Amino acid sequence: MSKFFEIKDLHVEIDGKEIIKGLDLAIDKGEVHAIMGPNGSGKSTLANSLMGHPSYKITSGEVLLNGESILEKTADERAAAGLFLAFQYPHEIPGVTLFNFLRSAVNAIRKRHTGIDADKDKKVAATSLREFSKKLTEKMKVLQIDESFAKRYVNEGFSGGEKKRAEILQLAMLEPQMAVLDETDSGLDIDALRIVSDGVNLHAGPNMGVLVITHYQRLLNYIKPHVVHIMVDGRIVTSGGPELALKLEEQGYDWVREEILE
Ligand code: ADP
Ligand code: MG
Repeated sequence: MSKFFEIKDLHVEIDGKEIIKGLDLAIDKGEVHAIMGPNGSGKSTLANSLMGHPSYKITSGEVLLNGESILEKTADERAAAGLFLAFQYPHEIPGVTLFNFLRSAVNAIRKRHTGIDADKDKKVAATSLREFSKKLTEKMKVLQIDESFAKRYVNEGFSGGEKKRAEILQLAMLEPQMAVLDETDSGLDIDALRIVSDGVNLHAGPNMGVLVITHYQRLLNYIKPHVVHIMVDGRIVTSGGPELALKLEEQGYDWVREEILE
């Protein structure tokens, strides 16, 4: 039986330099996996290449979601297939309000699934707008994002923590099947960390796979992983249970280099 989300012997290059050097990972529905690793080990490269970022060249390997290869798909096709990435460094999109951004994303995915274009189809437009607004208000409340943010341009002038909450708001609105969260904890104080984690935990469930990428163990106190993988120099060098994250917290990454890589 193949797993719900599978990465097989993935190799990724940036500007001709190999960064991901043969990475394997399999995540089932309902599972939360964490990838931890020192800075520069290739965690963001992995996340960005999963989503189809054009600067990252996949030279070999396979990525399957529900048994289907996603590598030939464009980023929006991957999103429609149920893949979601919360960026380590979310982009600002001046001129596009958070409301319109999220509505376009939700509509685009619906259109791919049903063929219905809520922007054009007058019959569904009014109801879908009402439903969308209601859901958005609800989700913003959970993530403690002030209503006024809906009218602001995406991430423009948002603090680090506000950007991360806006990423999780996207997750909440899009309801992906497989969510990859790249350093969603960076730049968050403890209260924001709790809010963001609660938001993720609320949506992670038996029908969703989650891959949490983080440098620090702290986030994993809130989003509890079933499996922890350690990534060094473009490969997963060891995997284990949550205790692995605690060992890293106590001992840093040196023991990985000494015990595992030697
Ligand atoms: P991590 O997220 O684990 O800290 P990254 O994936 O960001 O690691 O980076 C892995 C390596 O790839 C680093 O050596 C980094 O300098 C390099 N790298 C990442 N993105 C780019 C890019 N756009 N252009 C050139 N090198 C890059
Ligand atoms: Mg990174």
